Amino acid sequence: MEDSPGRATLNSDVAAGVVWDVLVVGAGPAGSSAARVAAEGGASVLIIDRARFPRYKTCGGGLIGISLGVLPRSILATVEQEVCEVRFSLRGGAPQTHRRALPFLALVQRERLDEALVQAAVAAGALFRDSVVVKSVEEADGLVTVTTDGAPLRARVVIGADGTSGRIGRYVGVQNRGTDLALEVELIRTPESRAYDGSIAFDWGSAPGSYAWVFPKEKVLTVGVIQARGEPQQTRAYLDSWLHSTGLDHLETGHFSGHLTQWRAPESPLRRGSVLVAGDAAGLLDPWTREGISYALRSGCWAGEAALAATSREPVGDALDSYCRRVLRELDPDIRAGERLLHFFEKHPRLVHFALAHSATGIRLFLAVCDGTKTLSGILSHRPFSRALRVFGS
Ligand SMILES: Cc1cc2nc3c(=O)[nH]c(=O)nc-3n(C[C@H](O)[C@H](O)[C@H](O)COP(=O)(O)OP(=O)(O)OC[C@H]3O[C@@H](n4cnc5c(N)ncnc54)[C@H](O)[C@@H]3O)c2cc1C
Repeated sequence: MEDSPGRATLNSDVAAGVVWDVLVVGAGPAGSSAARVAAEGGASVLIIDRARFPRYKTCGGGLIGISLGVLPRSILATVEQEVCEVRFSLRGGAPQTHRRALPFLALVQRERLDEALVQAAVAAGALFRDSVVVKSVEEADGLVTVTTDGAPLRARVVIGADGTSGRIGRYVGVQNRGTDLALEVELIRTPESRAYDGSIAFDWGSAPGSYAWVFPKEKVLTVGVIQARGEPQQTRAYLDSWLHSTGLDHLETGHFSGHLTQWRAPESPLRRGSVLVAGDAAGLLDPWTREGISYALRSGCWAGEAALAATSREPVGDALDSYCRRVLRELDPDIRAGERLLHFFEKHPRLVHFALAHSATGIRLFLAVCDGTKTLSGILSHRPFSRALRVFGS
Protein backbone atom coordinates (compact mmCIF):
# COMPACT_ATOMS: atom_id res chain seq x y z
CA MET A 1 0.00 0.00 0.00
CA GLU A 2 1.93 2.99 -1.29
CA ASP A 3 2.36 5.96 0.99
CA SER A 4 0.37 4.34 3.74
CA PRO A 5 1.54 4.32 7.39
CA GLY A 6 2.62 1.12 9.11
CA ARG A 7 0.09 0.63 11.87
CA ALA A 8 2.46 0.14 14.76
CA THR A 9 5.47 1.98 13.46
CA LEU A 10 4.16 5.42 12.57
CA ASN A 11 6.11 8.01 14.49
CA SER A 12 4.23 11.11 13.48
CA ASP A 13 0.61 11.37 12.41
CA VAL A 14 1.35 14.74 10.89
CA ALA A 15 3.85 13.35 8.36
CA ALA A 16 3.32 14.95 4.97
CA GLY A 17 2.16 12.44 2.37
CA VAL A 18 0.66 9.96 4.83
CA VAL A 19 -2.66 8.60 3.63
CA TRP A 20 -4.69 6.75 6.24
CA ASP A 21 -7.13 4.05 5.18
CA VAL A 22 -9.59 5.38 7.74
CA LEU A 23 -9.59 8.64 9.66
CA VAL A 24 -12.11 8.80 12.51
CA VAL A 25 -13.08 12.20 13.89
CA GLY A 26 -14.37 12.05 17.49
CA ALA A 27 -13.48 9.48 20.14
CA GLY A 28 -16.84 8.94 21.84
CA PRO A 29 -18.51 5.50 21.69
CA ALA A 30 -19.26 5.84 17.96
CA GLY A 31 -15.75 6.90 16.92
CA SER A 32 -13.76 4.45 19.01
CA SER A 33 -16.03 1.57 17.99
CA ALA A 34 -15.52 2.47 14.32
CA ALA A 35 -11.75 2.77 14.80
CA ARG A 36 -11.52 -0.54 16.67
CA VAL A 37 -13.50 -2.51 14.08
CA ALA A 38 -11.61 -1.06 11.10
CA ALA A 39 -8.22 -1.60 12.79
CA GLU A 40 -9.11 -5.18 13.77
CA GLY A 41 -9.68 -5.86 10.08
CA GLY A 42 -6.19 -4.60 9.21
CA ALA A 43 -6.88 -1.03 8.04
CA SER A 44 -4.50 1.77 8.99
CA VAL A 45 -6.63 3.93 11.30
CA LEU A 46 -6.10 7.31 12.90
CA ILE A 47 -8.66 8.49 15.46
CA ILE A 48 -8.58 12.08 16.68
CA ASP A 49 -10.53 14.14 19.20
CA ARG A 50 -10.48 17.82 20.04
CA ALA A 51 -10.62 17.13 23.79
CA ARG A 52 -7.79 16.04 26.02
CA PHE A 53 -8.54 12.46 27.15
CA PRO A 54 -9.91 11.19 29.46
CA ARG A 55 -12.55 13.87 28.99
CA TYR A 56 -15.81 14.66 30.76
CA LYS A 57 -19.01 14.08 28.76
CA THR A 58 -22.42 15.32 29.87
CA CYS A 59 -24.39 12.06 29.96
CA GLY A 60 -26.39 9.86 32.32
CA GLY A 61 -24.15 6.94 31.38
CA GLY A 62 -27.07 4.47 31.29
CA LEU A 63 -26.25 1.33 29.31
CA ILE A 64 -29.26 -0.66 28.12
CA GLY A 65 -28.98 -4.35 27.20
CA ILE A 66 -28.25 -3.56 23.53
CA SER A 67 -25.22 -1.46 24.54
CA LEU A 68 -23.97 -4.16 26.91
CA GLY A 69 -24.32 -6.72 24.12
CA VAL A 70 -22.23 -4.68 21.65
CA LEU A 71 -19.43 -3.61 24.02
CA PRO A 72 -16.23 -5.66 24.12
CA ARG A 73 -16.21 -7.72 27.35
CA SER A 74 -13.16 -5.91 28.74
CA ILE A 75 -15.13 -2.64 28.78
CA LEU A 76 -17.72 -4.04 31.19
CA ALA A 77 -15.23 -3.44 34.01
CA THR A 78 -16.15 0.26 33.78
CA VAL A 79 -19.72 -0.42 34.99
CA GLU A 80 -20.12 1.28 38.39
CA GLN A 81 -23.69 0.38 39.29
CA GLU A 82 -26.21 -2.27 38.27
CA VAL A 83 -29.77 -1.09 38.56
CA CYS A 84 -32.60 -3.25 39.98
CA GLU A 85 -35.03 -0.50 41.06
CA VAL A 86 -36.77 2.40 39.33
CA ARG A 87 -38.90 5.19 40.81
CA PHE A 88 -41.35 7.14 38.65
CA SER A 89 -42.84 10.46 39.67
CA LEU A 90 -44.93 13.15 37.99
CA ARG A 91 -43.94 16.82 38.42
CA GLY A 92 -42.00 16.14 41.60
CA GLY A 93 -44.85 14.21 43.27
CA ALA A 94 -44.60 11.03 45.35
CA PRO A 95 -42.63 8.34 43.50
CA GLN A 96 -43.95 4.88 42.61
CA THR A 97 -41.21 2.25 42.96
CA HIS A 98 -40.65 -0.98 41.01
CA ARG A 99 -37.96 -3.48 41.94
CA ARG A 100 -36.65 -6.52 40.11
CA ALA A 101 -34.20 -9.17 41.28
CA LEU A 102 -32.17 -9.05 38.04
CA PRO A 103 -30.46 -5.79 37.00
CA PHE A 104 -32.02 -4.09 33.96
CA LEU A 105 -29.59 -1.19 33.43
CA ALA A 106 -25.87 -0.60 33.98
CA LEU A 107 -24.39 2.79 34.84
CA VAL A 108 -20.98 4.18 33.89
CA GLN A 109 -19.10 7.45 34.13
CA ARG A 110 -18.45 8.47 30.55
CA GLU A 111 -14.85 9.54 31.04
CA ARG A 112 -14.03 5.99 32.14
CA LEU A 113 -16.15 4.27 29.48
CA ASP A 114 -14.85 6.43 26.63
CA GLU A 115 -11.23 6.11 27.74
CA ALA A 116 -11.59 2.30 27.87
CA LEU A 117 -13.15 2.27 24.39
CA VAL A 118 -10.30 4.37 22.99
CA GLN A 119 -7.78 2.00 24.58
CA ALA A 120 -9.58 -0.96 22.96
CA ALA A 121 -9.22 0.78 19.57
CA VAL A 122 -5.53 1.41 20.23
CA ALA A 123 -5.06 -2.24 21.29
CA ALA A 124 -6.59 -3.23 17.94
CA GLY A 125 -3.95 -1.17 16.12
CA ALA A 126 -5.48 2.30 15.70
CA LEU A 127 -3.41 5.39 16.46
CA PHE A 128 -5.11 7.90 18.76
CA ARG A 129 -4.32 11.60 19.00
CA ASP A 130 -6.28 13.87 21.34
CA SER A 131 -6.31 17.69 21.41
CA VAL A 132 -6.67 17.82 17.60
CA VAL A 133 -9.50 20.08 16.40
CA VAL A 134 -11.04 19.47 12.98
CA LYS A 135 -11.82 22.65 11.09
CA SER A 136 -13.02 21.55 7.64
CA VAL A 137 -13.26 18.68 5.17
CA GLU A 138 -12.86 18.40 1.39
CA GLU A 139 -12.68 15.52 -1.05
CA ALA A 140 -10.93 15.25 -4.39
CA ASP A 141 -9.55 12.43 -6.55
CA GLY A 142 -10.70 9.71 -4.14
CA LEU A 143 -8.97 11.21 -1.11
CA VAL A 144 -10.48 13.15 1.79
CA THR A 145 -8.46 15.98 3.31
CA VAL A 146 -9.31 17.09 6.82
CA THR A 147 -7.98 20.46 7.93
CA THR A 148 -7.16 20.65 11.64
CA ASP A 149 -5.64 23.17 14.03
CA GLY A 150 -2.38 21.35 13.24
CA ALA A 151 -1.32 19.65 10.03
CA PRO A 152 -3.93 18.56 7.46
CA LEU A 153 -4.75 14.85 7.46
CA ARG A 154 -5.58 12.66 4.45
CA ALA A 155 -7.57 9.44 4.29
CA ARG A 156 -9.38 7.15 1.88
CA VAL A 157 -12.46 7.11 4.12
CA VAL A 158 -13.42 9.52 6.91
CA ILE A 159 -15.90 8.61 9.65
CA GLY A 160 -17.46 11.63 11.34
CA ALA A 161 -18.29 10.74 14.95
CA ASP A 162 -17.89 14.25 16.30
CA GLY A 163 -21.19 14.44 18.16
CA THR A 164 -24.12 16.86 17.98
CA SER A 165 -23.62 19.83 15.63
CA GLY A 166 -20.24 18.41 14.55
CA ARG A 167 -18.20 19.72 11.63
CA ILE A 168 -18.40 16.46 9.70
CA GLY A 169 -22.17 16.29 10.07
CA ARG A 170 -22.36 19.78 8.58
CA TYR A 171 -20.16 18.70 5.66
CA VAL A 172 -22.35 15.65 4.99
CA GLY A 173 -25.52 17.78 5.30
CA VAL A 174 -27.11 16.06 8.32
CA GLN A 175 -30.57 17.45 9.05
CA ASN A 176 -32.09 17.09 12.46
CA ARG A 177 -35.77 16.97 13.27
CA GLY A 178 -35.57 17.99 16.93
CA THR A 179 -33.11 19.48 19.39
CA ASP A 180 -33.23 19.32 23.17
CA LEU A 181 -31.20 20.99 25.87
CA ALA A 182 -30.06 18.81 28.78
CA LEU A 183 -28.62 20.13 32.04
CA GLU A 184 -26.77 17.87 34.42
CA VAL A 185 -25.02 18.05 37.79
CA GLU A 186 -22.70 15.52 39.36
CA LEU A 187 -23.43 15.51 43.09
CA ILE A 188 -20.76 14.21 45.42
CA ARG A 189 -22.18 11.18 47.26
CA THR A 190 -22.35 11.12 51.04
CA PRO A 191 -23.36 8.25 53.35
CA GLU A 192 -27.03 9.29 53.23
CA SER A 193 -27.11 9.38 49.42
CA ARG A 194 -26.14 5.66 49.34
CA ALA A 195 -29.94 5.31 49.30
CA TYR A 196 -29.73 5.48 45.49
CA ASP A 197 -27.44 2.44 45.26
CA GLY A 198 -28.84 0.21 42.51
CA SER A 199 -31.81 2.56 42.10
CA ILE A 200 -32.68 5.20 39.49
CA ALA A 201 -35.42 7.83 39.50
CA PHE A 202 -37.37 9.46 36.65
CA ASP A 203 -39.73 12.42 36.87
CA TRP A 204 -42.03 13.63 34.10
CA GLY A 205 -41.91 17.43 33.97
CA SER A 206 -44.51 20.09 33.21
CA ALA A 207 -42.91 21.35 29.96
CA PRO A 208 -43.99 19.15 27.01
CA GLY A 209 -41.62 16.20 26.55
CA SER A 210 -39.46 17.08 29.55
CA TYR A 211 -38.18 14.64 32.13
CA ALA A 212 -35.61 14.41 34.91
CA TRP A 213 -33.44 11.65 36.37
CA VAL A 214 -31.11 10.53 39.15
CA PHE A 215 -28.46 7.99 38.06
CA PRO A 216 -26.08 6.80 40.82
CA LYS A 217 -22.39 6.11 40.19
CA GLU A 218 -19.63 5.07 42.58
CA LYS A 219 -18.72 8.54 43.81
CA VAL A 220 -21.43 10.80 42.40
CA LEU A 221 -25.12 11.00 41.69
CA THR A 222 -25.74 12.19 38.14
CA VAL A 223 -28.86 14.35 38.25
CA GLY A 224 -30.28 15.93 35.12
CA VAL A 225 -33.23 17.29 33.19
CA ILE A 226 -34.02 17.52 29.49
CA GLN A 227 -36.57 19.43 27.43
CA ALA A 228 -36.92 20.96 23.97
CA ARG A 229 -34.32 23.65 23.34
CA GLY A 230 -35.48 27.24 23.59
CA GLU A 231 -36.47 27.75 27.24
CA PRO A 232 -33.13 27.56 29.09
CA GLN A 233 -34.42 29.36 32.20
CA GLN A 234 -37.37 26.99 32.46
CA THR A 235 -35.01 24.03 32.02
CA ARG A 236 -32.80 25.39 34.80
CA ALA A 237 -35.84 25.97 37.06
CA TYR A 238 -36.91 22.35 36.47
CA LEU A 239 -33.45 21.13 37.52
CA ASP A 240 -33.60 23.23 40.69
CA SER A 241 -37.09 21.99 41.60
CA TRP A 242 -36.09 18.37 40.85
CA LEU A 243 -33.06 18.70 43.13
CA HIS A 244 -35.36 20.11 45.79
CA SER A 245 -38.05 17.44 45.48
CA THR A 246 -35.49 14.61 45.63
CA GLY A 247 -33.96 16.20 48.74
CA LEU A 248 -30.52 16.17 47.10
CA ASP A 249 -30.06 19.93 46.85
CA HIS A 250 -27.81 20.03 49.93
CA LEU A 251 -25.14 17.81 48.26
CA GLU A 252 -21.96 19.40 46.96
CA THR A 253 -21.95 19.90 43.17
CA GLY A 254 -18.89 18.41 41.51
CA HIS A 255 -19.62 19.32 37.90
CA PHE A 256 -22.39 21.26 36.19
CA SER A 257 -22.83 21.23 32.41
CA GLY A 258 -25.28 21.41 29.54
CA HIS A 259 -25.40 19.62 26.22
CA LEU A 260 -27.71 19.40 23.20
CA THR A 261 -29.27 16.21 21.94
CA GLN A 262 -30.58 15.94 18.37
CA TRP A 263 -32.24 13.31 16.20
CA ARG A 264 -32.17 12.97 12.45
CA ALA A 265 -34.88 13.83 9.96
CA PRO A 266 -35.94 10.76 7.92
CA GLU A 267 -34.27 12.03 4.73
CA SER A 268 -31.03 13.13 6.44
CA PRO A 269 -27.91 11.77 4.64
CA LEU A 270 -25.48 9.35 6.29
CA ARG A 271 -22.79 9.64 3.63
CA ARG A 272 -21.23 12.17 1.29
CA GLY A 273 -18.65 10.69 -1.06
CA SER A 274 -16.11 8.85 1.09
CA VAL A 275 -17.30 10.46 4.33
CA LEU A 276 -19.72 8.65 6.67
CA VAL A 277 -21.38 9.94 9.83
CA ALA A 278 -22.18 7.82 12.91
CA GLY A 279 -23.68 8.26 16.38
CA ASP A 280 -24.83 11.72 17.49
CA ALA A 281 -23.07 13.28 14.48
CA ALA A 282 -25.67 11.53 12.31
CA GLY A 283 -28.56 12.34 14.67
CA LEU A 284 -28.88 8.68 15.71
CA LEU A 285 -30.67 8.87 19.05
CA ASP A 286 -34.00 7.83 20.52
CA PRO A 287 -36.06 11.06 20.54
CA TRP A 288 -38.17 9.99 23.51
CA THR A 289 -35.72 8.55 26.04
CA ARG A 290 -32.72 10.37 24.44
CA GLU A 291 -30.81 7.09 24.76
CA GLY A 292 -27.94 7.36 22.30
CA ILE A 293 -25.05 5.16 23.42
CA SER A 294 -26.49 1.99 21.86
CA TYR A 295 -27.00 3.90 18.58
CA ALA A 296 -23.44 5.25 18.73
CA LEU A 297 -21.92 1.82 19.44
CA ARG A 298 -23.86 0.03 16.71
CA SER A 299 -23.51 2.68 14.01
CA GLY A 300 -19.82 3.09 14.90
CA CYS A 301 -19.14 -0.64 14.48
CA TRP A 302 -21.03 -0.73 11.16
CA ALA A 303 -19.25 2.39 9.86
CA GLY A 304 -15.91 0.77 10.77
CA GLU A 305 -16.90 -2.42 8.91
CA ALA A 306 -18.01 -0.46 5.84
CA ALA A 307 -14.86 1.67 5.81
CA LEU A 308 -12.73 -1.47 6.07
CA ALA A 309 -14.59 -3.07 3.16
CA ALA A 310 -14.26 0.14 1.11
CA THR A 311 -10.49 0.27 1.61
CA SER A 312 -9.79 -3.44 1.22
CA ARG A 313 -12.16 -5.35 -1.04
CA GLU A 314 -15.35 -3.73 -2.29
CA PRO A 315 -15.97 -0.73 -4.56
CA VAL A 316 -16.03 2.29 -2.24
CA GLY A 317 -19.58 3.36 -3.14
CA ASP A 318 -21.07 -0.13 -2.62
CA ALA A 319 -19.33 -0.64 0.72
CA LEU A 320 -20.29 2.76 2.13
CA ASP A 321 -23.86 2.53 0.85
CA SER A 322 -24.26 -0.76 2.71
CA TYR A 323 -23.65 1.23 5.96
CA CYS A 324 -26.41 3.69 5.06
CA ARG A 325 -28.84 0.89 4.24
CA ARG A 326 -28.11 -0.87 7.51
CA VAL A 327 -28.71 2.25 9.59
CA LEU A 328 -31.99 2.90 7.80
CA ARG A 329 -33.07 -0.72 8.21
CA GLU A 330 -32.00 -1.34 11.81
CA LEU A 331 -31.92 2.03 13.61
CA ASP A 332 -34.25 4.41 11.83
CA PRO A 333 -37.48 2.49 12.65
CA ASP A 334 -36.73 2.89 16.37
CA ILE A 335 -36.00 6.60 15.92
CA ARG A 336 -39.38 7.01 14.19
CA ALA A 337 -41.11 4.99 16.95
CA GLY A 338 -39.36 7.14 19.59
CA GLU A 339 -40.58 10.24 17.77
CA ARG A 340 -44.19 9.00 17.87
CA LEU A 341 -43.86 8.18 21.56
CA LEU A 342 -42.35 11.59 22.26
CA HIS A 343 -45.33 13.33 20.59
CA PHE A 344 -47.71 11.15 22.60
CA PHE A 345 -45.79 11.87 25.82
CA GLU A 346 -45.83 15.63 25.09
CA LYS A 347 -49.63 15.50 24.97
CA HIS A 348 -50.33 12.92 27.65
CA PRO A 349 -47.62 12.88 30.33
CA ARG A 350 -50.12 11.70 32.97
CA LEU A 351 -51.14 8.74 30.85
CA VAL A 352 -47.51 7.78 30.27
CA HIS A 353 -46.81 8.16 33.97
CA PHE A 354 -49.82 6.00 34.81
CA ALA A 355 -48.76 3.33 32.27
CA LEU A 356 -45.22 3.10 33.65
CA ALA A 357 -45.89 3.61 37.34
CA HIS A 358 -49.14 1.73 37.81
CA SER A 359 -49.68 -0.79 35.01
CA ALA A 360 -48.06 -4.23 34.87
CA THR A 361 -47.85 -4.05 31.05
CA GLY A 362 -46.19 -0.63 31.15
CA ILE A 363 -43.44 -1.64 33.57
CA ARG A 364 -42.95 -4.98 31.75
CA LEU A 365 -42.35 -3.15 28.46
CA PHE A 366 -40.08 -0.56 30.13
CA LEU A 367 -37.93 -3.36 31.57
CA ALA A 368 -37.90 -5.25 28.26
CA VAL A 369 -36.62 -2.14 26.42
CA CYS A 370 -33.95 -1.68 29.11
CA ASP A 371 -33.00 -5.37 28.83
CA GLY A 372 -32.80 -5.02 25.05
CA THR A 373 -35.32 -7.80 24.45
CA LYS A 374 -37.86 -5.39 22.93
CA THR A 375 -37.47 -2.33 20.74
CA LEU A 376 -39.77 0.69 20.53
CA SER A 377 -40.58 -0.08 16.89
CA GLY A 378 -41.32 -3.70 17.83
CA ILE A 379 -43.72 -2.56 20.55
CA LEU A 380 -45.48 -0.08 18.29
CA SER A 381 -45.87 -2.69 15.57
CA HIS A 382 -48.48 -4.35 17.82
CA ARG A 383 -51.84 -3.11 16.68
CA PRO A 384 -53.32 -2.18 20.12
CA PHE A 385 -50.38 0.11 20.86
CA SER A 386 -50.24 1.80 17.48
CA ARG A 387 -54.04 2.22 17.52
CA ALA A 388 -53.92 3.74 21.03
CA LEU A 389 -51.23 6.17 19.89
CA ARG A 390 -53.31 7.15 16.88
CA VAL A 391 -56.51 7.62 18.86
CA PHE A 392 -55.00 9.50 21.83
CA GLY A 393 -52.32 11.25 19.81
CA SER A 394 -54.64 12.90 17.33
C1 LIG B 1 -27.52 14.96 29.56
C2 LIG B 1 -27.45 13.77 28.67
C3 LIG B 1 -27.71 12.51 29.22
C4 LIG B 1 -27.61 11.38 28.41
N1 LIG B 1 -27.80 10.16 29.00
C5 LIG B 1 -27.69 9.05 28.25
C6 LIG B 1 -27.82 7.76 28.86
O1 LIG B 1 -27.98 7.63 30.07
N2 LIG B 1 -27.72 6.67 28.06
C7 LIG B 1 -27.53 6.79 26.70
O2 LIG B 1 -27.48 5.76 26.01
N3 LIG B 1 -27.38 8.00 26.11
C8 LIG B 1 -27.44 9.13 26.84
N4 LIG B 1 -27.25 10.34 26.25
C9 LIG B 1 -26.87 10.40 24.82
C10 LIG B 1 -25.39 10.05 24.66
O3 LIG B 1 -24.61 10.86 25.52
C11 LIG B 1 -24.93 10.25 23.21
O4 LIG B 1 -25.89 9.70 22.35
C12 LIG B 1 -23.57 9.60 22.95
O5 LIG B 1 -22.58 10.24 23.71
C13 LIG B 1 -23.21 9.68 21.47
O6 LIG B 1 -21.89 9.21 21.30
P1 LIG B 1 -21.02 9.72 20.07
O7 LIG B 1 -19.77 8.90 20.07
O8 LIG B 1 -21.82 9.78 18.84
O9 LIG B 1 -20.67 11.26 20.40
P2 LIG B 1 -19.91 11.91 21.64
O10 LIG B 1 -19.87 10.97 22.78
O11 LIG B 1 -20.53 13.24 21.85
O12 LIG B 1 -18.42 12.10 21.13
C14 LIG B 1 -18.10 13.06 20.15
C15 LIG B 1 -16.62 13.39 20.27
O13 LIG B 1 -16.26 14.23 19.16
C16 LIG B 1 -15.31 15.18 19.60
N5 LIG B 1 -15.36 16.33 18.68
C17 LIG B 1 -16.39 17.19 18.49
N6 LIG B 1 -16.06 18.12 17.57
C18 LIG B 1 -14.78 17.84 17.17
C19 LIG B 1 -13.88 18.45 16.26
N7 LIG B 1 -14.23 19.55 15.54
N8 LIG B 1 -12.66 17.92 16.08
C20 LIG B 1 -12.29 16.80 16.78
N9 LIG B 1 -13.11 16.18 17.68
C21 LIG B 1 -14.35 16.69 17.86
C22 LIG B 1 -15.79 15.53 21.01
O14 LIG B 1 -14.74 16.06 21.80
C23 LIG B 1 -16.29 14.17 21.53
O15 LIG B 1 -15.30 13.49 22.28
C24 LIG B 1 -27.31 11.50 27.03
C25 LIG B 1 -27.09 12.75 26.47
C26 LIG B 1 -27.14 13.89 27.28
C27 LIG B 1 -26.85 15.23 26.69
